[in-house]
This record gives sequence, C-alpha cells and structure tokens, in this order.
Amino acid sequence: MNKKEITCIVCPIGCKIIIKTNGKKFELLEGNKCKQGVEYARSEALDPRRVLTSSVLVEDGIWPLVSVKTKKPIPKEKVFDVLKQIQRIKVNAPVKIGQVIAKNIANTNIDLIATKTIDKL
Ligand code: SF4
Repeated sequence: MNKKEITCIVCPIGCKIIIKTNGKKFELLEGNKCKQGVEYARSEALDPRRVLTSSVLVEDGIWPLVSVKTKKPIPKEKVFDVLKQIQRIKVNAPVKIGQVIAKNIANTNIDLIATKTIDKL
C-alpha cells in the first residue's frame, strides 16, 4: 500500500491526515483530530467523489448558458465522462432552478440539475 497525505475538508481546521491505501484497503496512520476525519479519509481513499459544477447551453433564453451541478457527489473517475456529456446538452428556455437537466448523467445514477433560473427571451 502507498502512503498518502489527505487534507480533511470536513471542517476549517483542515487536518493533514496520513494514510496507507491501495484503493481497496485503507489504513489510517495519523493526523486526524476527530472521528469525522477517519470517515473522510476512508471515503477519499476507497471511493473519492465530487459534486461537479458546470454550465449548459440554453436556446431562446435571456442568457445563453445556465449553471448546473450534479445533485450528489459523483465518483471522481466519472468526472470526465460527465463533462463530455454536459458539453453536448442544449436546453430550451425557460429553465427553473432545481430542474433536472439530465437524468442519470453518464450512468452515475445521479441527475444533473440547474442551479439558476433562465427566463425565455
Ligand atoms: S479531522 Fe476532524 S478536526 Fe480535523 S479537519 Fe477533519 S473534521 Fe476537522
């Protein structure tokens, strides 16, 4: 297993947590000041996820783009696939904040939603 340093982002203290991992197994060595850091480091080592934010083209809207995000964190290795799919999406105005823009984006079982309302021209 490889030694790795992870910065915990659960709270503003930002502990530097030292772990050993091979992507399948995880061992905490030192650095966390609380138990939440253990869970954060475990998740980062075994199943790293991110909420992805981007924007999508809008037709007939007062703005040409609408900001979007994944409704939940997606597996980190899926980020590129999701971005590629986002680039191909075009929606018609009006778009409502919270509207599902793409269901199950890139087979993640997670929806892409609008984070802004765009009225029709
Ligand atoms: S390990 Fe605990 S104290 Fe340290 S940054 Fe994470 S949540 Fe905060």
